[in-house]
Formats: sequence, C-alpha cells, structure tokens
Amino acid sequence: MTHSNFLRERDIRFHLHSQTNPEALRRDGPIIIERGEGPYVIGEDGKRYLDVMAGLWCASLGFENERIAGVAARAYRSLAYYHSFSGRASPDAIDVAASIAQRVPIENARIYFATSGSEAIETMIKLAWLYFRGRGQPERRKIIARDRAFHGSTIFAASLTGLPHMHREFGLPLGGIVRVSCPDTYRGRIAGESEDQFADRLAAELDEAIVAEGPETIAAFIAEPINAGAGVIVPPDTYFEKVRAVLDKYGILLLADEVVCGFGRTGEWFGCQAMGMKPDMMAMAKGLSSSYFPISAVALTPEIYEAIDAANAHGTNFGHGFTNSAHPVGAAIVREVLAIYDEMNLLERVSRQGKLLRERLSEELSDCSIVGDVRGRGLMAGVEIVEDRNSKAVFAVEKAVPAQIERMGMDYGLMLRPQGNTVTFCPPFIVTDEQVEEMANKVGAILREIS
Ligand code: PLP
Repeated sequence: MTHSNFLRERDIRFHLHSQTNPEALRRDGPIIIERGEGPYVIGEDGKRYLDVMAGLWCASLGFENERIAGVAARAYRSLAYYHSFSGRASPDAIDVAASIAQRVPIENARIYFATSGSEAIETMIKLAWLYFRGRGQPERRKIIARDRAFHGSTIFAASLTGLPHMHREFGLPLGGIVRVSCPDTYRGRIAGESEDQFADRLAAELDEAIVAEGPETIAAFIAEPINAGAGVIVPPDTYFEKVRAVLDKYGILLLADEVVCGFGRTGEWFGCQAMGMKPDMMAMAKGLSSSYFPISAVALTPEIYEAIDAANAHGTNFGHGFTNSAHPVGAAIVREVLAIYDEMNLLERVSRQGKLLRERLSEELSDCSIVGDVRGRGLMAGVEIVEDRNSKAVFAVEKAVPAQIERMGMDYGLMLRPQGNTVTFCPPFIVTDEQVEEMANKVGAILREIS
C-alpha cells in the first residue's frame, strides 16, 4: 500500500472531521495538506493550491512564517505553559493585553484571553449577564442575534448562529434568543428601496422585536460588522448607527463579533471601525494570531469591568476561566504577529489588494450569466451565484453547484470553500498582485465553464 493510501484509510477509519459529510469523506477520501508556502498549501501528492480563504478566514500571514516559528520555539523553551488564574500572568500576556487594549475602539478597555472564537463569544454573553445582575436587572438575559449569522460551535454560540444546519441535529437553539433579519442589501431590499431606507426598516424591525419581547428581558445584541459566513454580507453604511440608536433607547449592550473582521481584514484594524459600529464588547480570534496558535480575546468597557469588580467586592473570584487563557506561547506569537502587521503597513496593503481583487473579479465576471452580485470590503469578497440574474433564483440543491465549484477549484490549483451560494474570498494579506490575478482569472474560468 502506498503511503498516500495508508493515510487516507487511517483518516477515514479514525478521524471525525468538522463540517464534513461522512459519506462524501468515505467515498472521496480526505484532502491531505502537508506543507505551506506563503499563501499556498501543498498536498501530500505535491500539488500546490492558492488558498483563497486563508484556511478558515484566519491565516492572515499565510501558511509558513520563519519569524513566527523562531519566536514560538524560543517561547516554548522559556515557559511552555502558564495560566491566568489567581492573578498569574506571563510578561508576553501582559504586553499583548496592553497592545490589544490600545488598538481597540473601546476607551480604557480591559482584555480577557480565551482559546477560540466560540469561547470568546460565550465569555461576552456571560459578561453581559453579569453586568445586568450587577445593575439589579438579573431578568435581562435574552440576546438578539441575526438570521444567517455565524458565531461558533459551542452550545450557546451555536444557538446564536442563525444557520439551520448548526441546530438541526442537536435540538438547538437554546431558549432566550431573539432573531432579527440579516442586513443583506442584495436579497433583503424591496424594489426601489435605497440602502439607507433598508437600514431604517431593519432598525424598525429591531425596535418592534425588542418591544414585543419586553426590553427589560434583553441583555444584548450581537453582530459581526461584516457577516462572513453568510457570504460576505456588507450591511448598509448607516445600519449600525441606526441599530445603536435603537439599543441605546432600551439600554441594551452591543457585542461585536470581530472573529473574522478583526485585525485588518476590512482595511481598518477592526470591522467596527469600517462599519461605524460602537460596541460595548468585542470578540477577537483568527487574525489575532494568524491562527498560528489557538488564542482569542475579548475587549470590554470600563463599565463592564466595574460590574465584575463590584460582583467580587467581598473577596470572591471572577468565576470564569479556561486552562489555556493567556497562554504564554500564544501571547508571544500574537506579539510577533502584531509586530509584523505594523511593519507591513497592513491597512494600506489590505485596502490596495482588496480593491484590486474586487476590480479584477468585477471585470472577469461582468458578463458571466450565473453571477448575481460581486461585493466586499477590505481583503474580503463574495461572488453570489444565481441560476437567473433577473429573479435572483438560486440553483437547486441537488445540482450541487458549490461542490462543483470547489472541485473545479482544486483542478485549477485553487483552494475554494463556497459559503452556500457565494464563492467567498479572504486570502492571506501577503498575496501579491500576481496572486490576486491568479484568483480572479481562475475563478472567472471556472464560473464561465459552469454557466
Ligand atoms: N464568529 C465568527 C464570525 C466565526 O467566523 C467563527 C468561526 O469561523 C467563530 C465565531 C467561532 O470561532 P471558533 O471556530 O474559533 O470557535
């Protein structure tokens, strides 16, 4: 048996994959990736793929980086593990907390560390509950989340997620979640409605939902500045300003899920800044470490910190924490990743490469009959596939067009991972002009072939 067949068989026999159809895995086998080379990944058969999605919207510096490897090795030799319980901290964790606090658009922020995006989301929800208990409003428990949102896979984060396949088999969502519409300007607007009018209508819907539920029962509203998983949904420019006005009317907190948008992806340090969102807390992960270490963070306002302080004024501990929170090796890696972002003039680079990507996609796809919409912000884009441009009708599920696009991508040496009917782009920040060309040309060829 070849080494390749040996690996395939063992994978099918022993490994339960995330977000994978088991029958398809048994039939087609796994895609085994052995090495990284800048924005490319290399399969165990030696084939190279330009990874258009930076893995899972995360590997912002690509798939190998000597400098980070060196920092990680030194950090492991110096202090391979320590924690943040009972007042412990490593110098790098302290340094990185300060560095994140100084970057986020929350004045005098405190930073809490966790290890995944989902844990950061769960942490924000617990802090929202703690905050309202401290203010004598313990009945404020409900969280408003949006249709088609993705907030993670742990039980509450999956409940906040507005995608049926994340709920179906698990009896989710849990109670206490209020659902409002996704601000999808391509599909959600009614004929003749401007983006601003659409934002007004969404704000009115939010207001009505709050009144119907009882404002005194609602703790927070959670949203991604740009909804990545639903196919890079960029809300109207005035949406978050209007949402914030409604929330302020009822004293409801605004929680930003910056897991994808944070750390440069939108052309600003945070998606909040790109979209005019003024949050009370922010969850960050992925780009924080370029996913070179499983580390995430939450930024919170002084008011929320004061509530934690008041709750523990009589000698109790803040009752929350993960074994690997503020991991010293993770912190050392984040510190170096942030230094590299600063040195590469990140925001300018993302804006430039993102503009080029959207221009080239628009040129390539302008006459492609199955492309309904090309959209994005920063180095993040979505190309929505339709069967009919006029009616915006989508292809029947049985035609499996997204899977076909993904397979053809691999034939062309592109690692694609469409989100529903949208081919999404979230490449590493290091992509060159030639690599942007490569993505646009190849996706153009694939979609023309299908249409
Ligand atoms: N929030 C958003 C917007 C995400 O895209 C994800 C993951 O893709 C998460 C939260 C959950 O992050 P994790 O998978 O690290 O738990």
